[in-house]
Amino acid sequence: MKHKKRHFDLTYKLLILIGGLFLVVTLFNVAFKDNDKTAITPVVMTDIMIGVEVSYNDTVLGVINTKTDQTYVLEEAFSSLSLQLGYSADINVTFKEVTSENLTYTDNEEIISKITDSYMDYQSSLKQEAVKLSIDDMELILSSRDDVKVVLEKALEQMINSTHPVDVEVKLANNEIEEIQFTEDELGVKNCETELCSINMIEEINFENMLVFESEIQEVDDAVDFITKLKDKPVSYEVVSGDVPSTIAEKNNMRLSSLYDLNPGLEDNETSLQIGEDLIITVAEPEMSIEVVERIVYDVAIPKSYTYTSDPNEYMGTNETINYGADGVKEITATITKINGIEIDRVVESEVVVKEPISAVISKGLKALPSKGATGTFISPLTEYNITSYFGPRWNASHRGIDMAANYGSSVRASDGGVVTISGWHSSYGYLVEIDHGNGIRTRYAHNSKLLVSVGDYVSQYQEIAKVGSTGNSTGPHVHFEIIINGSVVNPLDYIQ
Ligand SMILES: [Zn+2]
Repeated sequence: MKHKKRHFDLTYKLLILIGGLFLVVTLFNVAFKDNDKTAITPVVMTDIMIGVEVSYNDTVLGVINTKTDQTYVLEEAFSSLSLQLGYSADINVTFKEVTSENLTYTDNEEIISKITDSYMDYQSSLKQEAVKLSIDDMELILSSRDDVKVVLEKALEQMINSTHPVDVEVKLANNEIEEIQFTEDELGVKNCETELCSINMIEEINFENMLVFESEIQEVDDAVDFITKLKDKPVSYEVVSGDVPSTIAEKNNMRLSSLYDLNPGLEDNETSLQIGEDLIITVAEPEMSIEVVERIVYDVAIPKSYTYTSDPNEYMGTNETINYGADGVKEITATITKINGIEIDRVVESEVVVKEPISAVISKGLKALPSKGATGTFISPLTEYNITSYFGPRWNASHRGIDMAANYGSSVRASDGGVVTISGWHSSYGYLVEIDHGNGIRTRYAHNSKLLVSVGDYVSQYQEIAKVGSTGNSTGPHVHFEIIINGSVVNPLDYIQ
């Protein structure tokens, strides 16, 4: 700062001196104009020269003219170096004002190139031997081949560790990986006899020695983090039927706003999305991808089959399960290939049946339904039931039939053949069927969930007429069954065969 101030003062004084002389000469000329033709020539001190000496790291590079040049030179050298290096260079250039009777000025452009050359020379002298690790087009600078080995081993172990506790050894050839060996910690054995078969690199990996600045060299742990950390990488996505931006974002684990950012115009034209159109999405992937081949053993079910038998003693439409059967089990050995933990291929090597399936057996009724019309005999409307309420006095009233509890949806069969006289909703009976069997005999079936016959239908004994339910005044699935003879209810249990 002292230099600069002095330079200013000196320039100022010099200007005053020159300006003063000029004024004196002018006044002199005006004053003596026409009176005396003799002009006075001013005497100027021309033999003191000033300049700015430029040095890099205490080595003098040359002298430039003025302070304006100094700013220009510094700015140009800085931008030229930043362009070459790709980062802002810290240039150790100093400027010193000099005055002398004999100065040789150096051209500004020459000074600029001297500064940049000096900087590059000096920096090169600071460089050291290192190894550049390339994973496809991504590069990492590590201090030695040993570090390359350790970084690759740690990264691989970390990436495989989620499924296998594994100890990886990477063998380096001249400038590429020679072999990847591994030992599974607990088992202490290598290769496909256990689970892990092979570890392969997807990207092209190689390395070479080079000279770098110390600041460019990465620490092992930082390099491992860099390689293994998931990064969002843009990939193409083809729109499929039913896609809208929000579902596309959700399917691909990304924010809707990111999808909009990557696909300009999408937000304003959501409805114009076309099937087959390509969008840009991001997927999270590590910098280095690994392929792991492993052998796995797992069980799968062998579905049971169904066998049908026929029962000539059952009426048609009646199916009865004789044997529920059981699914079998088979043990499968397969080789699966995963890239970064995601399965991309599976080859089944062997299947061993551990348990054979047992076929289910179902008996189908073959017997034709009897001819329509009354037989004079009565069968139970249900094949399986519990009587929950009997005929006769109940509380303060008299129960008009019997309550037969059964599974919801079971078949309700006609107790005898006849003609349907009621099939519909009947207040407290719920969905009701009534059949007239002739000779003044009728039967009623109440609380059904579904009715299968209509008024006027002729039905056979055993024919399915409804499904068990709990409609009307009912507390659970059951059939309220009545037999009415000449207008009076009778106890059905006295008539059912
Ligand atoms: Zn009842």
